[in-house]
Amino acid sequence: MIIIDGSEGEGGGQVVRNACALSLVTGQPFRIVNIRGGREKPGLMRQHVTAIEAACTLGNAECEGLAVGASEIAFRPGRVAPREYRFSVGTAGSTGLVLQTILPPLMLADGPSRIVLEGGTHNMLAPPFDFIERSFLPIVNRMGPHVEARLARHGFYPRGGGRIEVEITPAPLSPIDCLSRGASLHRAATALFAALPFEIAQRELSAARKLLNWPEAVFAVRELPAEQGPGNILLLEAGFEHVTEIVSGFGKLGVTAETVAKTAASRMKGYLASDAFAGPYLADQLLLPFALAGGGSFTTVKPSQHALTAADIIERFLGRRCVFEQVESGAHLMTV
Ligand code: ATP
Repeated sequence: MIIIDGSEGEGGGQVVRNACALSLVTGQPFRIVNIRGGREKPGLMRQHVTAIEAACTLGNAECEGLAVGASEIAFRPGRVAPREYRFSVGTAGSTGLVLQTILPPLMLADGPSRIVLEGGTHNMLAPPFDFIERSFLPIVNRMGPHVEARLARHGFYPRGGGRIEVEITPAPLSPIDCLSRGASLHRAATALFAALPFEIAQRELSAARKLLNWPEAVFAVRELPAEQGPGNILLLEAGFEHVTEIVSGFGKLGVTAETVAKTAASRMKGYLASDAFAGPYLADQLLLPFALAGGGSFTTVKPSQHALTAADIIERFLGRRCVFEQVESGAHLMTV
């Protein structure tokens, strides 16, 4: 059995999600101790438990010790059964993070699946739906499987209530090389909000306008039905021929609209100033499909602690190392 110390490296929930996904794909059981040992409040939180429960259900797996607050579990995978599933995070926990756990085994399963996930769709510290749909999935789809995601209803913290639907047609993952973004195609800056003053969205856009030298027409406010709120996110999108980067600023009580815009704009400017293919979040999320494809490469900005930790977990299950090296342009090249 593979033994993982969950406090090593990044020391967060991503270690558990990646381990479950890899265990289901490879059939290797694992035990993890010191779960989320790097966090202020260690142990499994509700959203992690839902992700593991989902992995157990579709992978006919057994998990010993699974409970909110648990700092140790043992996971024994079974046979992955593709079909229709519905998983509810219960709280506003991120649907995107549950998807991170169950997508790899389902895209390599022996039949198609349809997944409905309920919970948060635009959470802090998690991939917003737009990122999954337009940044992450197009790359995975180039590798063989066909995955289509649809947002049925937005869900924000703390209320949740969001819903996404994902259709997965599996296929073997083929290695691809993603070294260039290609020509610049579009920009979009969207302030999404529900059940909050319109003025918040306007202020976010006007601050973003001052920081980004983007044409006026790409800035838009999108008001959602009040019952989907309260919630607010500023999404900045830069589309290229081969990749789309989406960075987000999350509206939060006590954080001014200008600060939200400044955070998102400075992230986007950082990405645009480099010539890397993948931004930091896309990079850590692409490692697993690339490693499962058994090869391939992409360029990225400086690898994050999330990416380095994901590389360690991947090596434990696949015996394959994802290597990062700095290249001339200052970007980093990741090869499997
Ligand atoms: P913890 O509370 O333990 O940190 P977690 O399970 O919520 O746990 P992490 O382990 O930090 O989360 O993993 C977060 C994941 O969400 C990473 O894969 C990261 O790339 C992704 N992510 C975070 N913020 C964004 C964002 N703004 N856009 C896209 N992806 C994001």
